[in-house]
Amino acid sequence: MNEKRCSQCSLVRPLTEFHRANNCKDGRRGDCKACACKAQRAHRKANLESVRRDDRAYYAANREAKCASKARYREENPDAVRESGARHRKAHPETRDAAQVHCRLGVLREVTAELRQRPCEICGLPPRSNARQHHIDHDHSMNGPESVRGVLCAGCNSGLGYHERGKAWGRTKCPAWQASADAYLERHQIQLSASPDAGQ
Ligand SMILES: [Zn+2]
Ligand SMILES: [Zn+2]
Repeated sequence: MNEKRCSQCSLVRPLTEFHRANNCKDGRRGDCKACACKAQRAHRKANLESVRRDDRAYYAANREAKCASKARYREENPDAVRESGARHRKAHPETRDAAQVHCRLGVLREVTAELRQRPCEICGLPPRSNARQHHIDHDHSMNGPESVRGVLCAGCNSGLGYHERGKAWGRTKCPAWQASADAYLERHQIQLSASPDAGQ
């Protein structure tokens, strides 16, 4: 038997159209991939806050392993990575114009350019130009424009990565820097959850 009926939409579909599940009799879920994805999207939408919290916790706990496996994949499959990038740009032509949109975050360039005019939100370093310009910091457990937190100098940006993982390195050993970084994180967390239409 290499097809079965979806428990949700009742269509008979090939087994490959059902997600794998070790705890099911035939090793596949009862609902088809399309129905499972639809249900998951609805669940995420209805539970945005807790889903985001879980995503963040999961990301924090698995960050290093995930980054390493992604980097390994990119290295071993350069062609697939290039092709998937090309497919994505074709499917999302709105992100194609690099002059207008920050390609990874989907934020308008004019917004990021405006942010980069501000001093570093942790150490107060004034804006810089060209090669050492400030970084747009975003919540790595999310994607899209709403993941943008603020603007940080290159040093604080990488320092914050260490700090969030509970590691001390360079400036992140300084208690005053830590206090400022914590205040920064708190400020942006609060902004996110206080925003009534976050994620819309
Ligand atoms: Zn279905
Ligand atoms: Zn800084």
